[in-house]
Amino acid sequence: MYTPSDVVGNNIVDYIYKDDLKKTFSEIMYAIQTRESKRVECRVRIKTGNFVWVEAIFSPFFDQEGNLSGLYGVLRDIEDRKKIIKEKDKNIEKFKAIIESTKGGICVHDDKNILEMNSLFKKMFRIEGEQCAAEKILDFTRNNLKDPDTFFNRLEGIFKSKGIRNGRLETKDGKVYEYYTKMIYKDKHVYGRIWQIFDVTAQVKYEEKLKKKEEQYRKFFELMPDPIIVHKNGLILYANRAAEEIVKVENLVGRSMLDFLHDDFKKIVMERVKETYENGVTLPWLEEKIIDMDGNIIDVEVAATPVDLDGEIVSLVVIRDLRQKKELERNRMMLNEAMELERVRSEFFANISHELRTPLNVILGAVQLMQIYINNEDTKIQEKLSKYVKMMRRNCYRLLRLVNNLIDITKIDSGYFEINQQNVDIIKLSEDIVASVEEYVERFGLKIFFKTDRKERVIAVDPDKIERILLNLISNAIKFTDVGGSIFVNISNDEKYVKISVKDTGIGIPKEKLGLIFDRFRQVDKSLSRNHEGSGIGLSLVKALVEMHDGEIAVTSEEGEGSEFTVILPARTIETKDISLVDRSITNGYVERINIEFSDIYS
Ligand code: ADP
Repeated sequence: MYTPSDVVGNNIVDYIYKDDLKKTFSEIMYAIQTRESKRVECRVRIKTGNFVWVEAIFSPFFDQEGNLSGLYGVLRDIEDRKKIIKEKDKNIEKFKAIIESTKGGICVHDDKNILEMNSLFKKMFRIEGEQCAAEKILDFTRNNLKDPDTFFNRLEGIFKSKGIRNGRLETKDGKVYEYYTKMIYKDKHVYGRIWQIFDVTAQVKYEEKLKKKEEQYRKFFELMPDPIIVHKNGLILYANRAAEEIVKVENLVGRSMLDFLHDDFKKIVMERVKETYENGVTLPWLEEKIIDMDGNIIDVEVAATPVDLDGEIVSLVVIRDLRQKKELERNRMMLNEAMELERVRSEFFANISHELRTPLNVILGAVQLMQIYINNEDTKIQEKLSKYVKMMRRNCYRLLRLVNNLIDITKIDSGYFEINQQNVDIIKLSEDIVASVEEYVERFGLKIFFKTDRKERVIAVDPDKIERILLNLISNAIKFTDVGGSIFVNISNDEKYVKISVKDTGIGIPKEKLGLIFDRFRQVDKSLSRNHEGSGIGLSLVKALVEMHDGEIAVTSEEGEGSEFTVILPARTIETKDISLVDRSITNGYVERINIEFSDIYS
């Protein structure tokens, strides 16, 4: 603080801060001219040499005549007030800087006036200068929006609401703005409302483009002929039309993939799904079976790849319907089979012609010779004649067998072949057949043995057909067994079946041919079979006869060691008290039948 002696006589200019001088003096001059008090804020130097803000009121004073004598000034320290104002100005500047730097247009208003705008807002609403009436902004909005009514209807609600409201506005010139607005408060009272407006035209265009692209991709997926699904741990998130069509479901989304998977594949598919997630690898094609809503099993091929969908790993699965391919494969197989059958058939006819010609040639030759000797009584010539007769008979048997077999096969094929079942002691029947061929077998330098585990077993069979079966098997055993070998006919019984096996120590059958010998017209080796005549019908007929008894026939063989044919017959009887006694030795034409069945063996 100055004392009067400090200041009296000094120039006032020395105490006023130089920047405030002009302003202060003009106020003083004004006070002098108007003869009124004037107030000015200026900085003055205090005793310490620092300047402080003061409020100075200069008032003129007058003499008795009313002439101006001078001015007196009252000073008040306003340093604190100035500091507060300065702080406030700083805050306002900060606020202005903030609203200027945001990317959106900003406007603050109360219910009458615009309180604040940033320059972007002014630009958006074409406002020039610092001030603008609220009405002008509303007019501009009304004139420029594509659909102003909707916005103005909404505006009522917006003004009432306290929370943040936002929306999009489209202008006539194709721009899109996004607004956010909120009430603002000061000292717990509504101060006004702030609007932030962003130009999102570019973003919207990009979004539209993206949407279009997405729609395009979706269309691609939708129209793909192959079924496609996207799933997360088996839960279907997306499925295209082909996927829904293949399983006959209208909407697959939300369903579990496992619902449509065949049980046999559930485990392996779950393992594959785990693998996609754990290792992030694309899974190669795998054949699977799926089941549609009608329970049909569909052969498919499936591949899967992991895909990052908004940060979540899901599985994209492509499915190929294999039905058509399988059908083609089946058709191709059937065609191959048909072609193979055709090939075998023509081979058969070539073979059968040979089979028919050979005995006929022999018979014809013998007949011609017989013609020459027919009237000669010489005993030697008589012997020759009886040899020719024998030869003719044997060859007639061969022809007969062939024709019989062909007739039977034709009957079986057309369903006219009947069996006449009777309750028969199958052990005695078999034993009798073996006994009756013993002499023939021995003629070829072979031995035949019969063995059974039971003395008697009555089952229902057609004895004639059993005879055909056994004679055929024994005849084959003779044909394919060298001199000195043996044939064993064994019968074993259990509760349900009777097994009759014909085993030989002959040349055997190569493994790869075992599956073919029961096929019609097949012979293992054409060149070999030429030593042993045959048509390739025998075993297929035997098989058909066994199957007519609801039985089965099987073969095991080792090349060079021998073969064993096993006939398994169900041990059942028909309802009759009689047991047919079949006495083979007296059955009419029996010897004839053996001759016929064995006719091939003579060469
Ligand atoms: P085939 O009238 O030609 O004998 P089969 O149908 O009876 O016709 O037999 C078919 C083929 O099976 C024979 O050609 C022969 O190659 C083979 N086969 C049948 N039985 C035997 C056997 N016991 N030992 C070796 N091969 C056999």
